[in-house]
Amino acid sequence: MKVATDLRVETAIATRVLAVAGLFDMHGHISIRDGDVVHICDRGASRLTVTPELIAAVRVSDGQRLSEALPPSETALHLAAYRAKPEVRSVAHFHPLYATAFAVAGRPLEPASNAGAFFGGPIPVHDNPELIRTDELGLPVARDMAAASAVLLRGHGALVVGGDVRECVTAALYLEESAQRNHLAAQLGAVRPYTPDEIRRVREMLASRFVVEKTWTYLLEKARVAGALADLR
Ligand SMILES: [Zn+2]
Repeated sequence: MKVATDLRVETAIATRVLAVAGLFDMHGHISIRDGDVVHICDRGASRLTVTPELIAAVRVSDGQRLSEALPPSETALHLAAYRAKPEVRSVAHFHPLYATAFAVAGRPLEPASNAGAFFGGPIPVHDNPELIRTDELGLPVARDMAAASAVLLRGHGALVVGGDVRECVTAALYLEESAQRNHLAAQLGAVRPYTPDEIRRVREMLASRFVVEKTWTYLLEKARVAGALADLR
């Protein structure tokens, strides 16, 4: 019971952190997996003030709701990612401005900055613009994500995954940073994507636990300083 309570608190904190970071607005959700259960914010809750009581629980294996709180309508996105990638412990779906612009263009996000190299390769685009509300629609998203740790949803938004919640939050920030930098660089002329060897070399330096912890601490403190966590810790 204590574990479940703690994970509801963690999920509420991560949701607020991403809202304060400007990556979530009235939409967006991050989930944390514990065995066959995922914790995720209630579909109607404010992402800025969601409380542990408004964190829903859903079973991964069959999508069964286990809480009074109602999971978001696109929880199928999270379940598809967890089923396809057993090593994943946290998933976020959101509609960040710049990454979604690449999704609108239907263009994979090429690593052309250090933030982009974090992902180890281009971020693919899933072509179906529908809301992903069923397992039938979720499965092809996971298939298109394949070995990547993120996928763009055409005309819609993005999905990122992580080995834990801090990694997932870091990936969410880097996804948007990578898209913003590529977009700005495109105003100056052609973007120079990293070569596979450059991606590998930069990723070796960047995709570390140290960088994940530093990024998480920055975003957590940003939310704390803004007063957005006062009632949670
Ligand atoms: Zn969505």
